[in-house]
Amino acid sequence: MKSPAELTVLFRAQGLKVTPQRQAIFSALHGNEEHPTADAVYETVSALMPTISLRTVYQTLNDLASMGELAHVRLGTGSARFDPNLDPHHHLVCDGCGSVVDLAADFTDVRVPDGDIHGFAVRSTEIVFRGLCPACRESAPDTPSTTAIHH
Ligand SMILES: [Zn+2]
Ligand SMILES: [Zn+2]
Repeated sequence: MKSPAELTVLFRAQGLKVTPQRQAIFSALHGNEEHPTADAVYETVSALMPTISLRTVYQTLNDLASMGELAHVRLGTGSARFDPNLDPHHHLVCDGCGSVVDLAADFTDVRVPDGDIHGFAVRSTEIVFRGLCPACRESAPDTPSTTAIHH
């Protein structure tokens, strides 16, 4: 994701207003590796800027996503998450707490067999590894990685 200063320029070039609230959202996302939900972004930013509304957060996240500056990822953790890491990568998802960690790896052997692709033109491949993060393994050492999650 671009820096807050670069995003400010980009938003203005698109005729979008850049308020201090929006700049605080840019800063909260820049370099953020936690794959925050909109609510998590709101919590972070409203701690610094109590006047911000959840609506502004949603609007800004959606603007960034539609401009291709922020990835919208659905990882089965309950809520859509936002990922400022735009490089192709995979994810490790914790079944216990829902934490998401980036995994940069090349899985060169993952291919759809020729002739069995159901008419799809494949653009990208993302692999999600599910299991337990170190903190959850610590607190539930006997629990297998199939802990049920109710959405
Ligand atoms: Zn966990
Ligand atoms: Zn990611």
